[in-house]
Amino acid sequence: MKPVLSVTSECVPLIKTGGLADVAGALPGALTAHGWQMRTLLPGYRQVMTKCRRAKKVMDLPDLFGGKARVLQARLGGLHLYVLDAPHLFDREGSPYLDAHGKDFPDNPERFAALSWVAGRIASEGVDGWMPQVLHCHDWQAGLAPYYARKAGSDVPTVFTIHNVAFQGIAPADRVASLRLDRADFTARGFEYWGQISTMKAALVWSDRITTVSPTYAAELQTPEFGMGMEGLLRSREAELKGILNGIDTEVWNPATDPEIATYKTAKGKSRARAQLRKEFGLEPTDGPLCAVISRLSHQKGLDVLLEALPALVDRGGQLVLLGSGDPALEAAFRKAAAHSGVAVHVGYDEGMSHRIMAGADAILVPSRFEPCGLTQLYGLRYGTIPVVAMTGGLADTVINASPMALRSGVATGIQFQPVTAHALASALIRTVELFKDKPTWEALQRNAMRQEVGWEASAAEYAALYDEVARTR
Ligand code: ADP
Repeated sequence: MKPVLSVTSECVPLIKTGGLADVAGALPGALTAHGWQMRTLLPGYRQVMTKCRRAKKVMDLPDLFGGKARVLQARLGGLHLYVLDAPHLFDREGSPYLDAHGKDFPDNPERFAALSWVAGRIASEGVDGWMPQVLHCHDWQAGLAPYYARKAGSDVPTVFTIHNVAFQGIAPADRVASLRLDRADFTARGFEYWGQISTMKAALVWSDRITTVSPTYAAELQTPEFGMGMEGLLRSREAELKGILNGIDTEVWNPATDPEIATYKTAKGKSRARAQLRKEFGLEPTDGPLCAVISRLSHQKGLDVLLEALPALVDRGGQLVLLGSGDPALEAAFRKAAAHSGVAVHVGYDEGMSHRIMAGADAILVPSRFEPCGLTQLYGLRYGTIPVVAMTGGLADTVINASPMALRSGVATGIQFQPVTAHALASALIRTVELFKDKPTWEALQRNAMRQEVGWEASAAEYAALYDEVARTR
């Protein structure tokens, strides 16, 4: 097995705030079939340390960004972990990035620089006799790892994956020293970004290869509309940039075995799960589609647009169940919308509930303004829950729109719309209601959806091929 080190700030089943955790948790298992053994370096947050009690110390770090730290080696399920135990950085209340009041920790740049610095050290010296052949870093949190690795004299090739270019790891210029960066690299060709430091930019400059999580997002990233300031740099590296779709864990997300639901093998068997979901949320049975949203509530996800378009659905007998949390204004607006009949809202984060909703709903709505890959539409395909999605990023790449031709050819799996406006979304919701009422057509959509390959096999093969290619260059 060829060794590869993944550097990530989240990883299922230890700690998750979004899709990155799913990817980091699932990729190692899928890679073994392709000859790569992935080990994962992640921060020893309080939630992680409690799950890694039987860990072995493999590295001592007497002064890691202001405190004593060590690297612990642990196994969890199929995962092979290196946990960065640095209590002064990670033993805190709150989420990985936010304090108990929802504010960014002020030392986030140092916290994740520390993670990246340790990755650089492993890439240059190895750890406990283990040496990676490739360093695979995820998002701004691991953005400095390729830089530190080079500065430490490592020649291990580096791959950087953009899960979301909106989060760029910005730090004020006066943190150059505290981040152990070289002032000479604080230039437009280095990690300087409009007078500040960007760890995402550092990664885009110093990585050997760049990937992102769908081919369409890889193209979009090179435009001003989606690149969020990084488009020029990404265009200059087009030859090294590749979109590789995310997969999902098809064992965790399997309607035939899901312990949260009345299981089913074909979409015809959904009716019990649907009835249970209506009961759980106090919704009356109707003959319209039960639509669902499971999402962070943020501007990215376009849910303000859904609030505007919602009458088009409920006035035609459709219903909405929403599970989400985030922006307080959106949380309040959805709570208010739930006063109307046919709309049920749960503000919070709840894995079990997300499975019950995915199984019981007829359609899953994803009206994102941009979406690097998106996972909920993939769960939807697997559960025969028809995705109704904006035509952007990974949503464009994973759903086949029910155009007349696609319906006639028997390949359609969902409904796509653009642009992300209330008018276009309302039209898509009306189309959803109409298609739902045409039973043979809806059932064909469900059958096609459930037949899609949404696991990791194909994408793991692409990552493995990329690792093989970069490993050969050294
Ligand atoms: P992003 O990473 O931008 O949040 P993705 O669609 O890639 O979006 O991944 C989101 C993941 O988080 C999915 O696994 C989704 O089911 C999960 N999720 C989002 N919000 C909630 C919630 N409120 N409760 C449970 N799971 C959620």
